[in-house]
Amino acid sequence: MSETAARMIDRLVMNTYGRTQVTFVDGSGCQLTDDQGQTYLDFLAGIAVCNLGHAHPGVAEAICQQAKRLIHVSNLYYTEPQARVAQLLVENCFADRVFFCNSGAEANEGALKLARLWGKERLDGAHAVIVMENSFHGRTLATLSATGQNKVQVGYDPLVQEFRRVAFGDLEAVKAAFDQRVCAVLCEPVLGEGGVVIPPAGFLAGMRELCDQHGALLIFDEIQTGLGRTGQLFAHQGFGVTPDVMTLAKALANGLPAGAVLAREEVAELFHPGSHATTFGAGPVVMAAAAVVLETLTAPMFLELVRETGDYFLNKLNELAGRFPAVVAGVRGLGLMLGLELTLPGAPLVKRLMELGFVVNCTQEKVLRFLPPLIVTTQEIDALMAALAEVLAAPPRE
Ligand SMILES: *Cc1c(COP(=O)(O)O)cnc(C)c1O
Repeated sequence: MSETAARMIDRLVMNTYGRTQVTFVDGSGCQLTDDQGQTYLDFLAGIAVCNLGHAHPGVAEAICQQAKRLIHVSNLYYTEPQARVAQLLVENCFADRVFFCNSGAEANEGALKLARLWGKERLDGAHAVIVMENSFHGRTLATLSATGQNKVQVGYDPLVQEFRRVAFGDLEAVKAAFDQRVCAVLCEPVLGEGGVVIPPAGFLAGMRELCDQHGALLIFDEIQTGLGRTGQLFAHQGFGVTPDVMTLAKALANGLPAGAVLAREEVAELFHPGSHATTFGAGPVVMAAAAVVLETLTAPMFLELVRETGDYFLNKLNELAGRFPAVVAGVRGLGLMLGLELTLPGAPLVKRLMELGFVVNCTQEKVLRFLPPLIVTTQEIDALMAALAEVLAAPPRE
């Protein structure tokens, strides 16, 4: 090939991403390899997607076997892998039913459509949804309207009505935003794109109470926090607060596109044949992969190990914070969803870490975000810590 993949993509693909100049060709576990043969340790996992690591043998085998049998027939018919995944999801959370789709935005669209139906049926047409400042819910018109970041909305007005934004963690603000026009609260249990922000004690439970008082739905967007990321199968289980609706995507099929809306019966029954649908959702290949993901995450000791590794990681980050107080503003984390807030822009550090062979992400300009595969080892974390210490000791400015 005379022209590189990178140059072809820059020339032919719409320019919506600020891509890093690297072309990955292989992966295995937490390791990635680029087209020059250089290897990297991946502390991003495709943005919390490849939770079981790259080229997971069980996932790969399930995909291959299913691809040789049946790839697609549509949701006008039944398929076996879909039944298995529905069972694994429903048996392991509050929900009675699931609607399958293909992405996070699409899952949140489904949840917002349920909220509209709930408002019509139960709340005299209420349709306002309370959302959080710095939240992220997707890029479709409804989900970008729900997203609490103006940069995601620029140029796309008029936005879908009506989203009321409040500060994440401010229960009084949620209370003040409530009136008889509110049909739902939509919230990530831990802000992901918003910079790995853990809610103050009582915040999620307080929202649960407010929703109960007003008859509104509590919707948790667990697209990033769900599926083992925080050391629980679903983050809300660790907070002891149960939503009415939960959305999933990212890690559900370890890299194949999959999303899900989960709800208890009373809410789920608002959908009827014809009221919502998808052509691709829950196709057999994607579901075969998702079944392996859920079987692995729910196997004995898997999540305990995630919590242990997460604690180890967090302690190491706190040590670094102690060593470099001038550049580290703070450290936070839950399970293997961790953030290190800097006192200076993070992009040059991300670039330098990449040169050292570590894939990390920066969000909200100053928060280094770590979302490694859940199988990451303490040795791999130690390797990152050595590189981070080097970078924090002399932070690059460009
Ligand atoms: C990634 C993400 C989404 C959007 O998912 P897509 O699959 O990119 O549409 C929505 N909500 C949260 C919390 C996310 O992290």
